[in-house]
Amino acid sequence: MFVDLVKIKIKSGRGGDGRVSFHREKYVAAGGPDGGDGGRGGNVVFQVDDNLSTLLDFRMKRKYIAEEGQMGGTKKSFGKNGKDIIIKVPRGTLIKDADTGLLIHDMSGDEPFIAAYGGRGGWGNTHFATPTRQAPRFAKPGLPGQEYNLILELKLIADVGLVGFPNVGKSTLLSVVSAARPKIANYHFTTLSPNLGVVYIDEGASFVMADIPGIIEGAAEGAGLGHDFLRHIDRCRLLVHIIDVSGSEGRDPVEDLEAINAELAGYSPELATRPQIVVANKLDILEEDSDNLQRLQAAAEAKGWIFTSISAAAMQNVKELMALVYNELQKLPPVVYYEPEYVVPEEVEKPTEREINIELVDGVYEVTGAWIDNLVGSIFLGEYESRMYFERVLRKAGVFDRLEEMGIQEHDIVRVADVEFEYIF
Ligand code: GDP
Ligand code: MG
Repeated sequence: MFVDLVKIKIKSGRGGDGRVSFHREKYVAAGGPDGGDGGRGGNVVFQVDDNLSTLLDFRMKRKYIAEEGQMGGTKKSFGKNGKDIIIKVPRGTLIKDADTGLLIHDMSGDEPFIAAYGGRGGWGNTHFATPTRQAPRFAKPGLPGQEYNLILELKLIADVGLVGFPNVGKSTLLSVVSAARPKIANYHFTTLSPNLGVVYIDEGASFVMADIPGIIEGAAEGAGLGHDFLRHIDRCRLLVHIIDVSGSEGRDPVEDLEAINAELAGYSPELATRPQIVVANKLDILEEDSDNLQRLQAAAEAKGWIFTSISAAAMQNVKELMALVYNELQKLPPVVYYEPEYVVPEEVEKPTEREINIELVDGVYEVTGAWIDNLVGSIFLGEYESRMYFERVLRKAGVFDRLEEMGIQEHDIVRVADVEFEYIF
């Protein structure tokens, strides 16, 4: 099954906590602090894998979580870093933030991409020794990982997109000019997934052509495909519009031309202006007295498009068509790579402004501010020294002055993030 749009959740690893420990050695009375730092959490990394052609695997597995960093050790040893998790995707996959829809990265190149950075490990108590505090009994916890809901959207990378009604010979053409082996049959819905083929013109001269189902295929029959596959034309530099000129299906070629172009325009006005080569196919079974070819040519040229005719099955004029396509491509800008609209920060963002809000709610002084949440998160309140450090930071930030200005009384309750304490002068 071909799947080109999925929603997944990723989470990088939390950093390991710093360790509190003291040097212990026989015959040495009181060693200094030797608690090591926690390891960094694992990253979530995306990588292109050319063996993949669909996002089907993501239907089965939707959560991708990297390993946590390990806690710091004794004797100043570092905790092990968490392992990265590598997510393999087909080339051309767009990574978007599901909450905002913003593009984070276009997986078109070979470089791996870090979509969520692991949290930094916390410092061990070794870092907190000072001349006056020789035995710090606290360390820092590791920072949390980053969590994202993502949309993965596959947009194939092809120079040329084959468009047209079902059964006009798109798959047949791709199969005679490339090594691609799309299903070919004399009934509709044979092509339910896009096929890519490389067309070699000459040494060093080639291009990628995609046989794209959809548009009318399915949509008209209510098969639910609708415009789903049109996203795969987005990057194509040139459209080759195949039309059954023989009228073997009982349709009119000029009406077909109009209908497909109306569908393209309906999907995106920009697509309707994409350079096109209109190709009349099935010349081999064109009735001699038919004026289809002339009418189609006139209609295509009236719109300023290049027109030619072939028989894909009989391989008539096919080589010439490929040479023409190659020539046109030389005049066009390269395949589009999308620029990110959102850059993933390397660390969980720390609020820089020391903004404090104090509110008196039901007799409780509530102290809030983004940096305070962060501060509380990085402190082990069970530790006496850690609590003292917390108090000092609050004092320095002017929290106590503000409380006193507000008229706080001894034994009033103060709440900082989720910690409550009694105020004592
Ligand atoms: P698609 O749906 O556009 O991919 O069309 P296919 O390539 O699957 O072809 C549909 C049918 O048309 C098949 O039976 C093909 O053999 C036939 N066909 C394709 N090209 C030609 C052609 O140039 N001449 C004739 N006579 N039949 C063709
Ligand atoms: Mg087909």
